[in-house]
Amino acid sequence: MIIGSHVSYGKEGLFTSVKEAVSYGANTFMFYTGAPTNTIRKDIDLEYTKLAKELMSKNDIDINNVICHAPYIINPATFDLEKQKFAISFLIQELKRCFQLGIKYIVLHPGSSVGITKEEGLNNIIYVLKEVLKENIPVTILIETMAGKGSERGIDISELSYIIDNLDSKYIGVCLDTCHLHDSGVDLTNFDFYLDLFSEKIGLDKIKCIHLNDSKNELGSHKDRHANIGFGHIGFSTLINIVNNDRLKGIPLILETPYIGDYDDDKNRLYPPYKYEISMIKSGKFNPDLLNLIRLEYKKQ
Ligand code: FE
Ligand code: FE
Ligand code: ZN
Repeated sequence: MIIGSHVSYGKEGLFTSVKEAVSYGANTFMFYTGAPTNTIRKDIDLEYTKLAKELMSKNDIDINNVICHAPYIINPATFDLEKQKFAISFLIQELKRCFQLGIKYIVLHPGSSVGITKEEGLNNIIYVLKEVLKENIPVTILIETMAGKGSERGIDISELSYIIDNLDSKYIGVCLDTCHLHDSGVDLTNFDFYLDLFSEKIGLDKIKCIHLNDSKNELGSHKDRHANIGFGHIGFSTLINIVNNDRLKGIPLILETPYIGDYDDDKNRLYPPYKYEISMIKSGKFNPDLLNLIRLEYKKQ
């Protein structure tokens, strides 16, 4: 099982990320090359990158399974020409950074078609990505399946296949997010039905990453609020069936579940759940007390 979580990219760049991933017992991870909410980026430090790679090989983390996530404030679906230009140049920079680090995959939110039609939004995404692909940087852009909040695009198989068919590039793939699929209306209790359709319209070989999250909301809610594994509306057994689905073998699973709040601490600390969620997923057995256990464990430290 290839499993990890999103981690921070700190002062020591990728080295910070690897240390955090290792502390969770993960064998992969996902990182942003800076804050996900802005586009300020530092140059890559070669020394820390070297240390990061050494620590990865010591801990059986294959860099081919490590995922980058583009900041979600760039909007490839926008009608605004300046913003389109910015999305293109920023994505090119981001792909170059991934290439420099040796990272093969970058997840991208396809964006929102605010103030325009769905078709116009999809065509803008295609235009932006075509411009980026012209650079021929050997890093695969994984379009993330979205929940359908507001005018988000990339919310079903027909939108994804429209984008992917028009780009026709080996450097385009898909990242499935279980919370987003559920919120967009995909019944994950019948996941093979979804995979059949995906296989027919896009091809399962395009799936390169899975964001494994539970959802705070009901099927089809279009909300996009992640819950801890087994503590949401998707539920543990449905998520475990996805993890164990033979058709998705070897695909990196990335947790983006929320930190746990410490309810009786007035500093209101938050604890990362990943170490505990990873071991619970590996065990295949749901622990309904997990969130309390996490609070207690962190308090002991
Ligand atoms: Fe995402
Ligand atoms: Fe996600
Ligand atoms: Zn989300």
